[in-house]
Amino acid sequence: MSNLFDDESVPMITPSEVIEHLYCPRFTYFMHCLQIPQHEDQRFKVKKGREVHKDKEEQNRTYLRKQLGCVKKEISVYLASKSLRVRGIVDEVLFLDDNTLAPLDYKYAEYTDKVFRTLKTQSVLYALLIMENYKAPVTRGYICYTRSGNKLKEILYTEKDFDYAKKVIKEIFNIIQRGVFPKRTRWKNQCPDCCYRNICS
Ligand code: SF4
Repeated sequence: MSNLFDDESVPMITPSEVIEHLYCPRFTYFMHCLQIPQHEDQRFKVKKGREVHKDKEEQNRTYLRKQLGCVKKEISVYLASKSLRVRGIVDEVLFLDDNTLAPLDYKYAEYTDKVFRTLKTQSVLYALLIMENYKAPVTRGYICYTRSGNKLKEILYTEKDFDYAKKVIKEIFNIIQRGVFPKRTRWKNQCPDCCYRNICS
């Protein structure tokens, strides 16, 4: 579990690991209990996304302000919460003119017709991290789909969203700490392309 600890040895996971868990809970088991990493090529989109982030950092410093009522923003902010056991880098923390804060996340993806549960949960986790670290209210967040002309989608958070995200974190640590072999993904059509398919009976 070498990646799980911050400087003070508190076990922590990242929002990306939560997304992987939502795709298939067995990813959590193979990565953290058996220490078998995913193949690098599976991470293409993540890597590409990082390159996109760099571009955005350089090019788009101001255009969102008018659109969202943003009065200030911080870029690539590392946030951690020992109570949540989550750490991660938020692409942007927006300070809005109604005195709330909001995460903005750039995705190297096309927007279809809805925000997927995985991305929504990631955004909710960033919101929880921001609330705790900035001691400020967070009522909504934004996802920018860079492969759909930087289409911007707003997510309005509910208490149910926050509870769900916390439940998923609990589920993940239950697997990691107790070594429980989880059920397979509900989306079985992704199994043939999965890097764990040979060891996943
Ligand atoms: S083969 Fe299917 S069930 Fe097994 S880890 Fe991969 S996605 Fe999950």
